[in-house]
Amino acid sequence: MAKKKVGVIGGGIVGTALAYNLSLYDFIDVTLFEKDQIGSGTTAKSAGTVCLFDDSLPHQFWPVRLYGFQTYVNMEKAERGAAGFDKTGTLVVCTDEGVEKYTKTGIALAKSAGYEAEYFTDPGEIRKYFPDINMDCVLGAGWTADDGYFDPTMAANTFAKWTTANGGKVHTYTKVEDMIMSGDRVTGLVTDKGSFDFDVVVDASGPWTRFVSRKVGLELPIWHTKAEVFFLVPPNKKLDYDFPVLKYPRFYARPEGDNIFICKAHLTMDLNDEMHAGVWDPDELQPTGGTDDYFLEFLFSELEECAPNLLNSGLSFSWLGYRAEPPDFMPILGETPIEGYMLAIGCGGNGVIEGPAVGRDMAQYIAYGEESLLLKYLPLSRFEEQFDLSAVGTIQQP
Ligand SMILES: Cc1cc2nc3c(=O)[nH]c(=O)nc-3n(C[C@H](O)[C@H](O)[C@H](O)COP(=O)(O)OP(=O)(O)OC[C@H]3O[C@@H](n4cnc5c(N)ncnc54)[C@H](O)[C@@H]3O)c2cc1C
Repeated sequence: MAKKKVGVIGGGIVGTALAYNLSLYDFIDVTLFEKDQIGSGTTAKSAGTVCLFDDSLPHQFWPVRLYGFQTYVNMEKAERGAAGFDKTGTLVVCTDEGVEKYTKTGIALAKSAGYEAEYFTDPGEIRKYFPDINMDCVLGAGWTADDGYFDPTMAANTFAKWTTANGGKVHTYTKVEDMIMSGDRVTGLVTDKGSFDFDVVVDASGPWTRFVSRKVGLELPIWHTKAEVFFLVPPNKKLDYDFPVLKYPRFYARPEGDNIFICKAHLTMDLNDEMHAGVWDPDELQPTGGTDDYFLEFLFSELEECAPNLLNSGLSFSWLGYRAEPPDFMPILGETPIEGYMLAIGCGGNGVIEGPAVGRDMAQYIAYGEESLLLKYLPLSRFEEQFDLSAVGTIQQP
């Protein structure tokens, strides 16, 4: 029997996780196209935190979070360095009752899966993990030593390597320039290195999807939010304690060598605020720089309130990335009105967490037509009434 031919556009963490999962089916022939290097898009700009109970995903999606975490831990076990795990632990600081409640539920879920996790209200206990904390307005903090952050570019490269080991094809420096259509159906891709026929094409082009999807006459409800990262040099150039992954409701931070990686929390972004969000060309992003004073000022005002000792930090460098966010900040997965063209996009600020589950569930759907709960919850059709998906080239209000 002929194999089902699947083309994947984009070699970020989502596209590579999908390609790897597709390569596990011996009746699927998968080919991934990446216009640059593997993991060089949003994935390269990421913090890579995959925390057991920060507030990035609703608890309803706990299995997605757990599967993501366990996938990278197992990847690291299989090949040292394959996922670049830095097990720093995470401190989730709770400044209001809503976050406190969320964190306590998260702790219970993490414990039920066998991880160590605790909720502290004693300032002495909290300061053990973050000595610079200002306890004013802090109700308590959740702590786990079991998680930390990964290197998503490494993980994407490992997925790509495992894909080719399983017989899949990975074409880097190969740009998808057009889609081949037969009536309303996508039947292949035109790249700058030639044309390919496919039974199914999956768009996993992250923030580029806004432009890629126009080639099949779709205007997708994806906005770019500015993910502006600043690398701070702490006072005295080096901290005298191990900096954990630190999650506050409005910002987060993690160690980066002796420096501190700090960024505004993605769920605080307002898609209607042009300082936060818009539709921009991701090809114009530079490896470093491009950040706005607005975000640095915001982060320093947060530090003033939360950790004033760190205010004397210097700025080493910064970068700007675009998160691809649908209006509900959850991915768009599965079928579109164009037959043969599917989506694995819109992972926004959670693509590293979500990539493994998205890859697994999309592959299962392509292989057997079985929709997981994730795919059932997150189809493109949930936006059909709110947005005109055929109004190509227009920017509608989120
Ligand atoms: C600063 C920052 C911090 C973050 N922190 C976290 C975090 O802590 N935890 C977390 O889970 N998530 C985090 N995220 C989000 C996460 O990084 C993204 O959700 C994830 O990387 C998206 O992966 P992707 O594969 O969808 O997109 P991308 O990584 O952008 O991959 C898309 C790929 O498609 C390629 N492409 C585009 N067009 C074409 C074409 N025509 N032909 C061929 N290839 C094409 C691009 O070159 C690119 O490599 C963060 C993001 C940023 C920016």
